[in-house]
Amino acid sequence: MPDIIVVGGGFVGNFLAYLLARKGIHVQVFEEHREIGHPPHCAGVVSKRGLKRLGIYSNILREGAVLSTHKCIRIWIGREAKIFYLKEDTLLVIDRPLLDKILFEKAQNRGAEYFLGEKVKELRSDGHVKAGTKLYKSKIVADAEGASKRLISRLLSYRPEVLPAFQMDIHVEDYRMRRSIIDVYVNVPDFFSWTIPLKENIVRIGIASRYVKNKYEFLKRLAKAKYDKFRVLNMFGGLVNVGGPIEKFVFGKIAVVGDAAGQTKPTTGGGIVWGGISAGILAKIIELNLNGDVDLRLYEKVWRDIFGANLSFMLMLRKALYFGDPQLKLRFAFLFLPDIVYVSSDYDFQLDFIRRIF
Ligand SMILES: Cc1cc2nc3c(=O)[nH]c(=O)nc-3n(C[C@H](O)[C@H](O)[C@H](O)COP(=O)(O)OP(=O)(O)OC[C@H]3O[C@@H](n4cnc5c(N)ncnc54)[C@H](O)[C@@H]3O)c2cc1C
Repeated sequence: MPDIIVVGGGFVGNFLAYLLARKGIHVQVFEEHREIGHPPHCAGVVSKRGLKRLGIYSNILREGAVLSTHKCIRIWIGREAKIFYLKEDTLLVIDRPLLDKILFEKAQNRGAEYFLGEKVKELRSDGHVKAGTKLYKSKIVADAEGASKRLISRLLSYRPEVLPAFQMDIHVEDYRMRRSIIDVYVNVPDFFSWTIPLKENIVRIGIASRYVKNKYEFLKRLAKAKYDKFRVLNMFGGLVNVGGPIEKFVFGKIAVVGDAAGQTKPTTGGGIVWGGISAGILAKIIELNLNGDVDLRLYEKVWRDIFGANLSFMLMLRKALYFGDPQLKLRFAFLFLPDIVYVSSDYDFQLDFIRRIF
């Protein structure tokens, strides 16, 4: 019997498996797809500081997983824009499938066992997991199944808000685009759309919203207005978690982590750094729990101690912005900001970010 079964071989599941396996803990990972990292869903924007915090920055550089780097985000409301320049940090666009594969290989090299193409059908709070026709037992199940929360929702009385998202990588003819910055368009009532230069002539364009039904046409219009001539290379979608965490993370011997637990930034839906830190907390608590030192529920307490203030602030910010007309509110906020806002703070913990702007 393994010590831990991890459900889901996405970023958080693989990272957790690696952290546990390198402590000598016997881990098995069940991933429903046959190939790690596929199908992709993530835009891949992550702060350099965040990756350093997770201890994986040098790996990512060495393996060539950085597609582009950016110092600025430009936020658009209609024709007005403000540039946010990160003085002490840099945003990296990561090749997300490759990132997941890097962690998968690191976990495997440390002894984690993978069951690829094996979909888990049921989680039981006594540590059993049902996959195919078999029942597998472990001391603890880590549920890292992602934002759909299909397995864990059976145990939840409340499901945090998620938004359906759609992205396309496009080839644009205009070479000047390769140097441009990440653009965010506040042009839907509940979130935003974005364009992210990836590498020469390739741009990732996306939207998350419940209101826009035909996201493909919406993005085509945005691409046409911005780049004129373009060609669609690929399309992908997913769910962005913006409603904060689920009610609790521990259900008997099940510990929920990553998007499945709603551990993402409510303002952007970004979950790579938050999910990675959460996996780090869980790995430590699991280690202590297996030694008989602490209750598994300490994971949730530690998590709230670390994220609580930022989480509450970012949830409040999201509610304040999107209750009513976000464009009107941002237009008003723009009146008090210079054209270029120099930001020297933490991209992932935005309580600090906002404090330092104003
Ligand atoms: C459109 C979009 C853009 C995003 N952009 C960014 C960004 O720029 N920066 C950022 O930080 N975050 C971004 N995110 C969020 C980020 O992708 C997630 O926070 C991150 O992927 C969470 O990792 P995870 O491992 O928890 O979940 P996932 O990456 O979703 O992994 C879950 C894994 O579980 C597997 N699985 C699910 N159910 C089962 C089952 N029953 N049995 C076995 N396996 C199962 C899935 O196949 C998948 O591999 C974005 C999300 C979306 C949708």
